[in-house]
Amino acid sequence: MVSSLGKGIAASSIGALLESRGLRIAMQKFDPYINVDPGTMSPFQHGEVYVLDDGAETDLDLGHYERFTSASFSALNNVTTGKIYQSIIEKERKGDYLGKTVQVVPHVTNEIKNRIKMAAAKDIDVVIVEIGGTVGDIESLPFLEAIRQMQIDEGRDNVLFAHLTLVPYIRAAGEIKTKPTQHSVSAMRSIGIQPGILLCRSEKKISKSERDKIALFCNVEENAVIQALDVSTIYEVPRMYLNQKLDDIILEKLKIKKARKADLRKWDAIVRRIKKPALETEIAVVGKYLEVQDAYKSIKEAILHGGIANNCRVNIKWVDSETIEKAPAAAKALKGVSGILVPGGFGSRGIEGKINAIKYARENKVPFFGICLGMQMAVTEFARNVLKLKGANSTEFDRETPYPVISLLEEQKCVKDMGGTMRLGSYPCRLKPGSRIYSAYKEKVIFERHRHRYEFNSIFKERMEEKGMTVCGLSPDGLLAEAVEIKNHPWFVAVQYHPEFKSKPVSPHPLFKGFVKAAVAKNKFKKAKEIKG
Ligand code: GLN
Repeated sequence: MVSSLGKGIAASSIGALLESRGLRIAMQKFDPYINVDPGTMSPFQHGEVYVLDDGAETDLDLGHYERFTSASFSALNNVTTGKIYQSIIEKERKGDYLGKTVQVVPHVTNEIKNRIKMAAAKDIDVVIVEIGGTVGDIESLPFLEAIRQMQIDEGRDNVLFAHLTLVPYIRAAGEIKTKPTQHSVSAMRSIGIQPGILLCRSEKKISKSERDKIALFCNVEENAVIQALDVSTIYEVPRMYLNQKLDDIILEKLKIKKARKADLRKWDAIVRRIKKPALETEIAVVGKYLEVQDAYKSIKEAILHGGIANNCRVNIKWVDSETIEKAPAAAKALKGVSGILVPGGFGSRGIEGKINAIKYARENKVPFFGICLGMQMAVTEFARNVLKLKGANSTEFDRETPYPVISLLEEQKCVKDMGGTMRLGSYPCRLKPGSRIYSAYKEKVIFERHRHRYEFNSIFKERMEEKGMTVCGLSPDGLLAEAVEIKNHPWFVAVQYHPEFKSKPVSPHPLFKGFVKAAVAKNKFKKAKEIKG
C-alpha cells in the first residue's frame, strides 16, 4: 500500500513461522525496477546491496530472508523486471518466439510464473513470494497479473495472497482509520486479486470492532485480519503472528494438513536477550551513507547478533567519515567508544576520515573491525603511518600513488562493464593457525562472500608483516590477502570479505561475536541499564 511498511520482515516472519511448523520453504523477491540487479545502484537510491553465495547482488530483503529462515538462496530468488526482459529479449533474438508478437501478457507473465515454479522445484512445500513496490504502480502490474494467473494455473487452494496495509492513527482525532486499507484492497480486487490475509501495520491496537469492519469491507475473514503492531525488535514479529494464529490460517487456506506444532523458543530467547541484556557497550560505525537508514542494514544486524552472543546491548554511534577528516575531529567523535567499525564503500568521498578513525583505533588500542573498504583503508593507514610510505593509497582513489598498497587484480584491469563484474560471492579462505581470526572461527578453511574489485597488493606483504600487520587469511592459492590483523593490540582485525552477510540471530558471526566481546572488555563489562517495555 505504501513503501517501508516492512514487507520484507513480514515475509521473513511468515517464513520463520512456517519453518517452525516443519515445512520446507523457498522465498523469492520480485523487484519491478528495470535494473537487472541492484548492483549498479547507489546506496542512496537503494540501501544495501546484499550478496548471496553464488555472487548474486540482491535486494536487502534477501538479507532478512536469510536471517529469519534456513532456506537456501541464489540469483533465482531475486528477480527484477530487467532480468525478465533480458531473458525474453535474448529468446526473441534467438528466434524462440518466431512468428509471434511478444507481449506483456502472456510472455512477460509466463516468464514471471516460470521463475516462481523454478523456486518451487526442489522439494519445497511453500514458496513465499514478495512483490516489491505498491499496488497501483505501473511497473508492478505484470507481476500482480502473473500471481493472479497463478491462482488459476495452480488452483485456488494452492495460492494465497497476503496484503500488507497501513492502518494510520490520526492523533488529532485520537482514532485509527481503516479507510486506506479498504481503498488498497479495492485496488487489488480491481485487478482480480482478493487477499486472503491482511497484515495491518499500526502503531495502535486495532480493536475487535475495527478488525470486523476491515473484514467486512475487504471481503476477508475476521480471523485473517492480523494486527502487525510496531515492536521494539523485528525478531519479535514471528511471535506476534503466532499469537494471532497466522500459521494455522495459512495452513488451513493452503489445505496443508501435515505440520507439527510451532515452536518459537529460539526466537523468544533472542528477543529476551535483546530486550534485557546483562551488559552494554558502544561501538562507532564510521561510514558515509548515513542518511539512508538501510545502507548498512546487515552490518547493523550483525552487530546486534554479536551483542546477543555476548548478552550485551550494543549502542551504535554513527559517525559520518566526511566530518572527521581532521584528526582532532576524529578524536572528539570517537572518544569513549569501546569499538570502531569501518564498513565497505565505494568512491573517494570520506576516505581520509576513515583513515583517521583507523589510526585512532590503532593508536588508542580501541577494538577495530575493518570490512572490505575498511580493510583496504586499514592497510593504507598502516602503510602511511607505520611503514612511513608517504602517499600510500588504493589505486581506486589515487592512480598515481607511489605506493599502491591496494590495487586492481590483473583480471579486473580489462573490465569495462560495471554490472556484475566485481569479485562476487563465496570464496574459500585459509586461516593462519595461531591468529586471532583463526581462534574466532576455530576452522582452517572458511567460506565468505565478497564484493570488491581492488585487492591487497602482496608486494607490500613482507614489509607490513615485519612491522606487525600480518596477513592471517589467504585465498587457497596463496595469492590474495583476505584478512589482516595487528597482534600488538587488543583486537584489530580487518577482512576483505563481508562477514555481515552470513550472520544470523540464531548463529551470530564469529567475528562480530569476537569484536563485541573485545568491546565489552574495553568497556570494563559495564552493566546494562534496564529499558522498560
Ligand atoms: N571499493 C572497494 C573495491 O571495489 C571496496 C568495495 C567494498 O567495500 N565493498 O574493492
